[in-house]
Amino acid sequence: MRSANEIWEAALGELQIKISKPNYNTWLKETTGISYQNGTFVISAPNIFVAEWLNARLRSLAAKTLAGIIGGDVDVQFVVHGPEQNESGGLVCNWQTDGGLSSKIKKMRLNPKYTFDNFIVGHSNRLIHAAAKGVAETPGHIYNPLFIYGGTGVGKTHLLHAIGHAAIANGFQVICISAEQFTNEFILAIRESKTEEFRNRFRGAQLLLLDDIHFIDGKEQTQECVFHTFNALYNASRQIVMTSDRPPQVILSLDDRLRSRFQSGLIVNIEPPDLETRLVILQAKVKQHKLKIPDEVLRLLARELKRNVRELEGGLTQLVAYAKLTGASLDHEIAAKVLAELLVPDDYKKTTSPDFIMRTVANYFGIPTEEISGRKRDRRTTHARQIAIYLMREESQHTLSQIGKQLSGRDHSTVLHSYEKIAKQINTDAHLQEQVSKIQQQLHTTEPPHNKMKSGRRSQKL
Ligand code: ADP
Ligand code: MG
Repeated sequence: MRSANEIWEAALGELQIKISKPNYNTWLKETTGISYQNGTFVISAPNIFVAEWLNARLRSLAAKTLAGIIGGDVDVQFVVHGPEQNESGGLVCNWQTDGGLSSKIKKMRLNPKYTFDNFIVGHSNRLIHAAAKGVAETPGHIYNPLFIYGGTGVGKTHLLHAIGHAAIANGFQVICISAEQFTNEFILAIRESKTEEFRNRFRGAQLLLLDDIHFIDGKEQTQECVFHTFNALYNASRQIVMTSDRPPQVILSLDDRLRSRFQSGLIVNIEPPDLETRLVILQAKVKQHKLKIPDEVLRLLARELKRNVRELEGGLTQLVAYAKLTGASLDHEIAAKVLAELLVPDDYKKTTSPDFIMRTVANYFGIPTEEISGRKRDRRTTHARQIAIYLMREESQHTLSQIGKQLSGRDHSTVLHSYEKIAKQINTDAHLQEQVSKIQQQLHTTEPPHNKMKSGRRSQKL
């Protein structure tokens, strides 16, 4: 019997192919399956806005997809889940409660699966694995700070939590927090005039593990707070470990003092795993989940799914789900079929013309299309232009320079800056999510015929 979340994960695998990537990332990425009882499948969404949107737009597609997997009619409900349940299943950090600690920080969880034991070491991560073990044993002494960077799904968070588990086992006090959560807590502290108390909480840690530090890019006040926290800990020989999707020198608007602090320790890049490591990772996952899959099939998956470990895990989950769904045996043929679906390149899904995107965005904001490509810099036009850039990157095949050319010859870095601004903000700003989603609806429903996908299955964008 599979858990509701396992079933939902399998459904997500299929939905990822059925709807456009931006829609998937905006609405579905953060959802989890909670329960399946009396024909109703309950799925948790991160906030009320997302839950309402999903109930209005995606309920029937989700129900159909789930029905295919479960093998019977299903009613679907998207709900917002309380923080208590969201945090379940993890370990409490070994943080000495001092009464003044906010309940959120006290409750920081480490994923129990993200341990050194479960981390497969290969050519691409040998150095960082050794460094991570080192800081968990003798924090603050060898590599401080330890800055881990790499693309998505390569194991940064896994390693960070592994350091946390090992350090706790070694009797150290650990705080593990994402840069986003750090920022949210900090903003709350400012609102309640408790910034000093906030800083003191962090200063007591022997190890501070900060996930996705690139999040503070462009957030001046948070950077100031990170800087002071960093200095206080560093001067007291406490260990700081950070993960990021890019090296410190590429975090665009990072305060110079902070950048040089980040660069003063060890900076290590985790690369996507090589073929041999990918195969070992798959074999380990198969063993962990007590699955029976021929080595030949695993080899095929390892050969084709190259980008990162998350993709590798996703492929395995989808393969198992597909085999269960169709009753087929897990052989080479089924694996090839699943891979053919998985390996539709992102670029293939991008078919909307930039002109059409500009017209649609201009129309949405009620401004002439020329102003999107022009030089006007009032707030409304700038915002519309940034959204147009974001959508041109997500939905068309244009490169950054080509997008720049379309916009009166703006350069590559200006375009990238606008894109990153929206890409980041869209994760936290419900109003922006709504604007972008409405424009996408228009793009996908009124797209001129010559822009539409040829294959029926792939054109099922929302
Ligand atoms: P990142 O933080 O770099 O985006 P994660 O740490 O979330 O990536 O890893 C993505 C998934 O891949 C997780 O389920 C993680 O357990 C798994 N994973 C990554 N690297 C390894 C590894 N070397 N061995 C085993 N599992 C791994
Ligand atoms: Mg991560």
